[in-house]
Amino acid sequence: MKTVYTFGGNADHSDPRQKDKTVTGGKGANLAEMAQIGLPVPPGFTITTEECVKYLAGGSDFTEALRNDVKAALNHIEATVGKSFGNNEDPLLVSVRSGARVSMPGMMDTVLNLGLNDATVQGLAKTSGDHRFAWDSYRRFIQMYSDVVLEVDHGLFEEALEIAKEDKGFYNDTEMEAEDWQALVTEYKSIVEKELGTPFPQDVTQQLWGAISAVFDSWDADRAKVYRRLNDIPSGWGTAVNVQAMVFGNMGDTSATGVAFTRDPATGEKAYYGEWLVNAQGEDVVAGIRTPQYLTKAARERANAKPLSMEEAMPAAYGELAAVFELLEKHYRDMQDIEFTVQDGKLWMLQTRSGKRTAKAALKMAVDMAGEGLISEEEGILRVDPMALDQLLHPTLDPRAHRDVLTTGLPASPGAASGTIVLDADKAEQAANRGEKVILVRVETSPEDIHGMHAAQGILTARGGMTSHAAVVARGMGRPCVSGASAVSIDMASRTLRIGNRELSEGDTLTLDGSNGQVMAGEVRTIEPEMAGDFGVLMGWADKHRRMNVRTNAETPADCKMARQFGAEGIGLCRTEHMFFDAGRISAVREMILADTEAGRREALAKLLPEQRNDFKAIFEVMVGLPCTIRLLDPPLHEFLPHGDAEFADLADVTGLNVDHLKRRAAELHEFNPMLGHRGCRLGITYPEIYEMQARGIFEAACAVAKESGDAPVPEIMVPLVATKRELEILRALIDRVAQDVFTEQGREIEYLVGTMIELPRAALMAGEIANEARFFSFGTNDLTQTTLGVSRDDSARFLAPYVDQGIFERDPFVSLDVDGVGQLVEMAAERGRATRGDIKLGICGEHGGDPASISFCDDVGLDYVSASPYRVPIARLAAAQASL
Ligand code: PEP
Ligand code: MG
Repeated sequence: MKTVYTFGGNADHSDPRQKDKTVTGGKGANLAEMAQIGLPVPPGFTITTEECVKYLAGGSDFTEALRNDVKAALNHIEATVGKSFGNNEDPLLVSVRSGARVSMPGMMDTVLNLGLNDATVQGLAKTSGDHRFAWDSYRRFIQMYSDVVLEVDHGLFEEALEIAKEDKGFYNDTEMEAEDWQALVTEYKSIVEKELGTPFPQDVTQQLWGAISAVFDSWDADRAKVYRRLNDIPSGWGTAVNVQAMVFGNMGDTSATGVAFTRDPATGEKAYYGEWLVNAQGEDVVAGIRTPQYLTKAARERANAKPLSMEEAMPAAYGELAAVFELLEKHYRDMQDIEFTVQDGKLWMLQTRSGKRTAKAALKMAVDMAGEGLISEEEGILRVDPMALDQLLHPTLDPRAHRDVLTTGLPASPGAASGTIVLDADKAEQAANRGEKVILVRVETSPEDIHGMHAAQGILTARGGMTSHAAVVARGMGRPCVSGASAVSIDMASRTLRIGNRELSEGDTLTLDGSNGQVMAGEVRTIEPEMAGDFGVLMGWADKHRRMNVRTNAETPADCKMARQFGAEGIGLCRTEHMFFDAGRISAVREMILADTEAGRREALAKLLPEQRNDFKAIFEVMVGLPCTIRLLDPPLHEFLPHGDAEFADLADVTGLNVDHLKRRAAELHEFNPMLGHRGCRLGITYPEIYEMQARGIFEAACAVAKESGDAPVPEIMVPLVATKRELEILRALIDRVAQDVFTEQGREIEYLVGTMIELPRAALMAGEIANEARFFSFGTNDLTQTTLGVSRDDSARFLAPYVDQGIFERDPFVSLDVDGVGQLVEMAAERGRATRGDIKLGICGEHGGDPASISFCDDVGLDYVSASPYRVPIARLAAAQASL
């Protein structure tokens, strides 16, 4: 198995492993492909992800085979460009970059200009005829290498550069002359020596292996782990390393560097979109140090900006670039995110990948590209990440609401967000943990801020362009972001900020509009999202292609209405206990629970019956004609008990019982392990009058709706937490008896089904027998996960994150179904249930019903429907379609 693949020049690109992202990473695979289709790619080589995994597992050591292969691959670059690595006369310089299977923006490290030392810098100066460029490159190299590989605080270098400029009275880096950079190199080297006690490495081979280890090591850096956890990237993938001959965008005014997208990644509009800088190296564009310029004339004019666009300033190179855009989009059949460099008028491609995009852009591009015939309808469905739809389903700012606009920055990531100002990521996370909504305001963000960005409702930065870290990460996370708002200045000492002439402090409220870059004081009213347009088109395609139905978990008429607007085809789970918490009825519930006798309970239940009947009637009216699964009372009774003296006193008032008596009853009901206690059908068995009341409420409501509308709902009455057939047998008889009573009283019959949740391992094992009593099964995978893994739903947050970090679970099993373990029980129960009753209806109503990966599994095992919370319904529709394709 090859450890290293070369590309560019006369390299052989025929091994399919080289274009397999799992082997060579996204960057490596695409560099090889671009070279193969004849695009101008500087020659280089890729070390496989497999070597990274070996290196990390093997105590950070390289194999002999790898060392030899790298040497040979380096020869390939040398032969192609006609320079040699470490040669004092005409040195080869290389870049070293990470490249995982999927891009992890800002997570991994890059070193440019590697191969420079005190001797080779002279050679570079001579061959390029540009001393300033040579010394500038060397100081960049020391700065980057020291930061990334040697882990010297980069602030020290920035400070030294600021001082050097101040001494000269310079404002811009471009004013620095060759001698100034040379002097700074001396200064930088002494910083390294002072910090590390050893000089900056002069041996270029040592430099190269240092950079390779740094890339491998960065796979396990904390910020990479956080990013992986947020994006469900397994820790075992590893990263590839790409070593490539340097091309220089900083060789004067005929050189440049830039980042471009073949379509607008924020809106999806079909127009080239990007940023570039004359006489600069790649990191200058993304680091936000210099403000990048527009790529196209149209974009520059629209923004009313002065500095010339690339289209105007370098028409020839731009023309070539535009041709490459067209070619790459056709080749990859997707929007591409491209990095390029122009060295002395010649265009070089440094990277292409399918570009990250906002949900809005993903949707528009999928619909547009299918319309253009670039992709099929099915591919269009597969192009949109179901989870990203979430961004589109949430409110935007009401265009009619008053806006107190403080300033306008760049519209880096769309959507609206309001919250209180916080100035650092840790504080943002703490506030979010307390349930507060915050806006993270930073000069610019770095990968260390990721957790705060995730915790915040929105992000505002004073510096940085549309491709800055903040912008890229915010778009990926779906957080609204305004970047490069230069009127914002932050004073960390007093924890205040100025925006123009307005003074604000941490804790003040801001609103961001990530779609137009506006930053507003206070909170601005929002409006509901648009369900038509591209969204409607894609959803239509999804509905056409999916096999499974999609229902919702809802118990209020408002939620049911919303879910129907989102396309729900019924209720998969109505948790009736949620109806019992209403302020108006909680005392009757408490009275029922604390009653000593059946008669006492019946008295309290009689008060609840009309309420329940109305609850069900309201739901049946909204869901008319659609199936509605109503689950009988489930939670541990003690959840309803009064808390504190005031609530006990109130209850004593209502019931006429004394407080001490009530407290004694409450203490009797206390359970040590309520999740495995007196809940679910165990309540129905011991206090049948509770389920009787609920069943009566359901049937009376159904008869009333049938009478009023002529269209009877079909209630599916669901018994929770069943472990044995006998439990269901007893409760089904009870429900049937109540049904007959009501039908006799009402003089009409309606159709109904009785079924059960499968949420205990025993129920899954005995599903064949239980199916004799059940017309349907609904997999309660929340409890099934809890009971199969022996992991508490309520107490596991503390250890699940480290479990995911260490790869014990690939994802939180309460978020995404443990297909290997819990999945077996689901599959077995589905099979056994069907064997007994061929037409048994099978669904899922645990949280997993809204998780795309779990939905795919549900499709595989042949469930009839998934049920998800209202906002997840469109996600489930799309995920179900993707599962069918
Ligand atoms: C379940 O256990 O998966 C379920 C849907 O029920 P609940 O979450 O109400 O326990
Ligand atoms: Mg449950």
